[in-house]
Amino acid sequence: MAKNDRERALDFVRARVEEDNRTGRFDGRVQTRFPPEPNGYLHIGHAKAFNLNFSIAEEYGGLCNLRFDDTNPTKEETEYVDQIVADIHWMGFDWGDRLFYASDYFDRLYEYALLLIRLGKAYVCDLSQDEMREYRGTLTEKGRNSPYRDRSVDENMGLFERMKAGEFPNGSRTLRAKIDMASPNINMRDPVVYRILHASHHRTGDEWCIYPMYDFTHCLSDSIERITHSNCSIEFEDHRALYDWFLDELEVYHPQQIEFARLNLTRTVLSKRKLVRLVEGGLVWGWDDPRMPTIAGLRRRGYTPEAIKDFLGRVGVAKTPTTIEVELLEHCLRDDLNARAQRVMAVLRPLKVVIENYPEGQVEELDAINNPEDEGARTRKIPFARVIYIERGDFREDPPKKFFRLAPGREVRLKHAYFITCRDVVKDPATGEVVELICTYDPETRGGDAPDGRKVKGTLHWVSAEQALDAEVRLFDHLLLEAPPEEKILPGQELSADGEAISDAAAVPQDFTDLVNPDSVEVLVGCKLEPSLASAEPGTPYQFLRKGYFAVDPVDSRAGRLVFNRSVGLRDTWAKIAKAQDAG
Ligand code: ATP
Ligand code: MG
Repeated sequence: MAKNDRERALDFVRARVEEDNRTGRFDGRVQTRFPPEPNGYLHIGHAKAFNLNFSIAEEYGGLCNLRFDDTNPTKEETEYVDQIVADIHWMGFDWGDRLFYASDYFDRLYEYALLLIRLGKAYVCDLSQDEMREYRGTLTEKGRNSPYRDRSVDENMGLFERMKAGEFPNGSRTLRAKIDMASPNINMRDPVVYRILHASHHRTGDEWCIYPMYDFTHCLSDSIERITHSNCSIEFEDHRALYDWFLDELEVYHPQQIEFARLNLTRTVLSKRKLVRLVEGGLVWGWDDPRMPTIAGLRRRGYTPEAIKDFLGRVGVAKTPTTIEVELLEHCLRDDLNARAQRVMAVLRPLKVVIENYPEGQVEELDAINNPEDEGARTRKIPFARVIYIERGDFREDPPKKFFRLAPGREVRLKHAYFITCRDVVKDPATGEVVELICTYDPETRGGDAPDGRKVKGTLHWVSAEQALDAEVRLFDHLLLEAPPEEKILPGQELSADGEAISDAAAVPQDFTDLVNPDSVEVLVGCKLEPSLASAEPGTPYQFLRKGYFAVDPVDSRAGRLVFNRSVGLRDTWAKIAKAQDAG
């Protein structure tokens, strides 16, 4: 890219980084971090954040750390840590030896808290959770000072040490920053710095019974790691004042926090708190359900890191919140798979066809092109024989107008094979259901063309019955019927001692689970696949001709039970939406 193009393409975060590099603010260093809380699987919203942080580091010759923000022992688990590591690696990013945990800094954070107390900038408060909320005021009403606000440094030191020693029960006391109860920014109204929580931590065990709050932990962790640009999502904007306050008061190295808009997607939810409800409520098969917007779910569905990065690149980074059509994500996947997926034949709802003039016991090996989009991809052999399967939907006894597929007396092409003509229909005498078609083939049309130049309107995919593999195939629809209701996202500072949200903004969200699509998955069994798919591996995309892109399910597929997931259909619904948006 020419320099000018590059500058024009620069988003505001990168522009900021370049500006700081130009002025030498951080001595030209670029050091970012991605700070997930290990309380759930990463979703594609997180991918927006870590893609930005790792990419910026890469682009400017800097480094990006992975740091687990593990200050909430009751909700965090090692399973999540391992999964987050695997997911970011799968996306193609690496942090070298810079894998950190906020809990690594508990000793230093405690020292910083003591320093704040000594500076007269923090105090131990005995207000209960409810009282604290009452004293805090509202957006339109100033807060009131806590009656414990003017405790002496010595008294505060003594009490805080006793908090640490485990002398007090959960929720009985907190350490609070002494800032300004009249601040228009509620985050500055003497926020909690430490809370008492007698709970085992996944890394520090029972060493601590007081835990630092998010805002205090985050800025200082950034400072300790000498982060230059601390990029986070927009809900932290009102917390930047607090981020800056702690670092200024403690007179330590001071990174720049930059906020960008969260990614929202239609027809799904991007919030761990909500995703966990789907998992625990049994509404999905797990965090890695192929319908889930988690990285693990997308991977299982057949998404590629390239498609996800392409999507994130198109979405870009800006300040204004937007909700992106999920169809754009699907479009990016289709684009990517189109170039790389091998074309194969699979019959999802089989109808048996007997070709009566084809010699019994004969099997031909026909050539099939692997991918017309990829010049390097070669051909493979597919067997053809007297009994084959076609798609049930490709036959109509009474074909409506514009139905160009098979019907009694009609001739169609079998892809890579011959022309066949339907001569007779066999029905189940009890139900009247069509169970078999009797056809003839024209031996002159091998490869799919008639020497006499006659044309057929329909081309069908098929598989030879004897060699076919049996498989289960899952077709997915969107998780939600419509967009979930808007909801305020609460950053960690608003958590109470037991990790529950306590601010006014935490009004109970409307129940999005009412919107869950009851038909988000269709499981088809007894599907018939061409035999080359016996060696299909999870992670390898296939295009089932006329049916979409599919990949082996890495969880349920095993020897004796072949399971495929549809990654995405063939029809590009995004093109239509984009056109309508352009017009509107
Ligand atoms: P959730 O709301 O899903 O629980 P979170 O913000 O609590 O997400 P964290 O583990 O704290 O999850 O997030 C790690 C980082 O990812 C944060 O810097 C956060 O700003 C960012 N992030 C989370 N969700 C999104 C999103 N939808 N779009 C962009 N960035 C996000
Ligand atoms: Mg968070």
